[in-house]
Amino acid sequence: MVKILVPFLLVRVLRGWLYPGTRRNLVRRRNNVKDICEVAEALGIELISKSGGYWSLCPFHDEKTPSFKLSPEKGVFYCFGCGAKGNAFHLTQKMRSCNFEEASSWLLSLSLLTTNNKTVPMVEQKEINEHELRLVLSALARYYAKSLSESVEAGAARMYLYDRGISPETTIKFGLGYAPSRSIGQISASRYFLQELQQKNVSISIPAIDAVGVKSFPKRDRFAERLVLPIRDPAGQTVGFGSRLLPQPTIYKKNVPKYVNSPVSSVFAKSRLLFGLDQAAPFIRQHDEAIIVEGYFDVLTLHDCGIRNVVAALGVTLTRFQIEHAARYSESRAVILLLDSDSAGNAATDKLCASLLPNLVQDAGLDVSVSHLKPFKDAADFVQSIRKHQDDAGLRSLFAQTILANKIPWEQRRDKVLLGDLFKPGAPNENGDQDVQRQREVDNNSIVVI
Ligand SMILES: [Zn+2]
Repeated sequence: MVKILVPFLLVRVLRGWLYPGTRRNLVRRRNNVKDICEVAEALGIELISKSGGYWSLCPFHDEKTPSFKLSPEKGVFYCFGCGAKGNAFHLTQKMRSCNFEEASSWLLSLSLLTTNNKTVPMVEQKEINEHELRLVLSALARYYAKSLSESVEAGAARMYLYDRGISPETTIKFGLGYAPSRSIGQISASRYFLQELQQKNVSISIPAIDAVGVKSFPKRDRFAERLVLPIRDPAGQTVGFGSRLLPQPTIYKKNVPKYVNSPVSSVFAKSRLLFGLDQAAPFIRQHDEAIIVEGYFDVLTLHDCGIRNVVAALGVTLTRFQIEHAARYSESRAVILLLDSDSAGNAATDKLCASLLPNLVQDAGLDVSVSHLKPFKDAADFVQSIRKHQDDAGLRSLFAQTILANKIPWEQRRDKVLLGDLFKPGAPNENGDQDVQRQREVDNNSIVVI
C-alpha cells in the first residue's frame, strides 16, 4: 500500500510545484464564459428559444429540424442528432478549428470571457482591421440594397415592405436590403460577392469576410432569403445587420428565428447600438426628446409618417448605455420609453423603472417618462391601423396626443411596481427576473432588460 501511495503523492506534489494552479486556472477559465448563448451567436449559430432551452440547427451535421440544444444555466451544448457535446470552449474550438488557447483568446477579444489576464495567455491573433470590416459591411449593405430593388427573387421582400406600409423613400433612407439565396457551389451569394470584390483588388481579406458572418453554415448564408436592415453608427456607417424572416420562405422550415443579427465583432456590439439613431439624431435634437421603441418596424413605420425622433434597441436587450445614448441628442436629456403593450413589454418597463432607472437617472441626469399606445400592441400596429382612416398629419397629431395622455414620470411607474409587490407578501415578484426570462423564452423578439 505504502509502495503505491508514496510515488502517487510524490507525483502530485511535484506536479503542483512545477505547474502551480494549472488545474485551478483551467477550471476557473471554464467557469468564466459569460454566456454560452452569446458565444454561439458570436460563432454565427442562430438560436431559437423553446421548451426551456435554446435550440439551433446543428452546425456539425446536416439537418432540417433543430436538434442542437444549448443549456445556458449549465453552460453546455448537446446535439441529439450526432451526439456532439461540450462547453463554450469546445464549441469555439470545433467551430473555428482551433486549440484551447486560441479559443480562449478569441473569446477574450470579443469580451465573452471574464478573466484575470494572468491566467489566459493571449495568443497573437491576426488583427482584423476595423477599417477593413467597415469596408466589407458597407459593400455588403450596397449589395443587399441593390438586390432588394433589382432581383426577381426579392419580390416577396418588396411585397412585405409594401404590406407593412414602408415607402420606397424610407426603404432607401434606411438602406433596407435583401440577401439572395443563390449559391455558387458551397459559397453563399454574399460571400461570393465579397470574394469577387477581393479579386478586383479591393483590399479586403478572408478573415474580414468571416468576421461579418455572411456564411454561418456550410451551405447557407446567415441572411439568405431575409429582409436585411443595416444597423448604422450615429455617423451613418453600417456596422452590422439585422434581418427578418419573410413570410413563406422557400429554404427554411419551421423553428427558425424571426430575427437574426450579425455576429459580434469589433464594430458590432448589440448592447451599444440603436437602430435608426443616424436618422433620428437631428429630430431628437429638434424635438428635444428621444422615443425608444422595441422593434425595427416601429421605427420604420413611425419614420415613414413623419415621426422621426424614434430609435429601437436591437433584439432582446435594452441597456443602460442605449438609454443614455439616445438621451445624448436631447438638450434636456428627455427620453420616452414606448415599449410594446403586451405582457413582455410591460414587464420590461416595470423592471426598467424598478431597477435600472433609479441609478441611471441620478448618475446621468436623464428625464425619463413612460408611455404606451394601448389598445395597440406597438407603434407599427398603431400606424397601420390609424393610417387606414387618417392622413399622416392627422396621424402625427393623434400619436402626440396619445403619448402625452398616457405619459407618466418613471418614478410613478416605479412606485406602482413597488406598491404592487408590497401587496403580494410571500408571492414571487411577478415583474422579476424569472418572469422576464420566461417571456424571453415565449417570444424571442421581446425586450429583456439587462
Ligand atoms: Zn449534430
